[in-house]
Amino acid sequence: MKYFIKTFGCQMNASDSERIAGLLKELGFQEASKIQEADLAIFNLCSVRQTAVDRIYGQFNLKSNLNKSKKKTKVFITGCILENDKKKIKEKVDGIFDIRELDKSFKKEIIKILKNEKNDFKTKLLNNRDLEATYLKIRPKYKFKDQAFVPIMTGCDNFCSYCVVPYTRGREWSRSKEEILNEVKDLIKNSYQEIVLLGQNVNSYKGKDENGKEIDFADLLKSINNLSGNFQISFLTSHPKDMSDKLIKVIAKGEKIKKEIHLPFQAGDDEILKKMNRKYTQKDYLNLIEKIKKEIPNVILSTDVIVGFPGETEKQFQETLKVIEKVGFKEVFINKYSPRKGTIAFKKYQDNISWSEKKRRWKEVFDLVEKINNVL
Ligand code: SF4
Repeated sequence: MKYFIKTFGCQMNASDSERIAGLLKELGFQEASKIQEADLAIFNLCSVRQTAVDRIYGQFNLKSNLNKSKKKTKVFITGCILENDKKKIKEKVDGIFDIRELDKSFKKEIIKILKNEKNDFKTKLLNNRDLEATYLKIRPKYKFKDQAFVPIMTGCDNFCSYCVVPYTRGREWSRSKEEILNEVKDLIKNSYQEIVLLGQNVNSYKGKDENGKEIDFADLLKSINNLSGNFQISFLTSHPKDMSDKLIKVIAKGEKIKKEIHLPFQAGDDEILKKMNRKYTQKDYLNLIEKIKKEIPNVILSTDVIVGFPGETEKQFQETLKVIEKVGFKEVFINKYSPRKGTIAFKKYQDNISWSEKKRRWKEVFDLVEKINNVL
């Protein structure tokens, strides 16, 4: 039997797809080069932006098209999906599963399919986002040969007001140090050059060491840096409020740790930051950057910003530009605010900035980043 996986969204979803592929390989499936050849098609979705959601859901007519062929492909979906969106697509697919169910009910149902037994995915699949993420134990089928994603934690407890992740991925859950180190050692043995540690917020990692003692992200990073071998370590994504002095020092000293930090600040104005529930001010962020630059003089910084958050005035937007100019980011990922049902911002604030104004602000940030990098 053959499978086909289509992945949308961030590196975390890409990494989850590697685990799905790993499980299917273990069950004896082979990868199909195109969906029409697959017995099992899995869509790993992202609902961070409404535009992406609309585009993706357009694809689900696909199932009826696929089933006109002899193959009778079964179509399943997983990923970051809001409850409302699940309702919209559930009739168009054979099943929806939470990624934390991958090694549990999903595996059981796939085995039934293999044995030609009746499967009842639709009725059985529950919303289990608060289950332990034991699916991360599955041996992944890595997509690349030199760079590997290693998830260290998943979920998020931060509830930024614009973000769906805490609702779609559930609460934070960290892997044990031993499990992570075993995966990394295996990758080093197989000549991987770069290990990318992944999590919605890597610096709120809370694991346990071999003696059951609590460890944080700085401890974990240090242990990986101390492994012998010729490799580099990078990590994604960090929340400014959890970037400790201890962590900055570990990054500065770790000879295998890349001196690149992606540190989303989202907005420069304190009132907007408060409405976003980011739990820091512009001053906190700039002080943190100063500390990082002092400890790691050759650091390369990148960030995410949102333009046109509800109520953002021109003056408040200028604060975002001010931060970008002061820090001198190498790269800025710019998002135009898009309201997502189910988030706090959707319930509390009116999306009162026009799309054309958001586009103008986007362009202004873009031009500024270009200017900074041409000068640097
Ligand atoms: S830190 Fe905020 S933006 Fe990042 S995943 Fe968590 S809630 Fe979303």
